[in-house]
Amino acid sequence: MSEVGKDFPEPRPHPNTLPCADCGHVWFEGERRHQYVEADGTITIEQDADVVCQLCHVKRTRPVSGGDEGVKYW
Ligand SMILES: [Zn+2]
Repeated sequence: MSEVGKDFPEPRPHPNTLPCADCGHVWFEGERRHQYVEADGTITIEQDADVVCQLCHVKRTRPVSGGDEGVKYW
């Protein structure tokens, strides 16, 4: 018997096959791509991460103005 393959993670669906978690964007060929990202926009390989499109990925990494925590980013 072979142990080969035992340590490989479960195959994930390609993020392009899933709708964007933030805007519901559905990928089609030629459209903006989707990524697995954390809530703060960090690209991740975690299976339970959100799938977002590139536009929403940018929004997560650089929050739109009006943050209610009083944090200044510049
Ligand atoms: Zn989106």
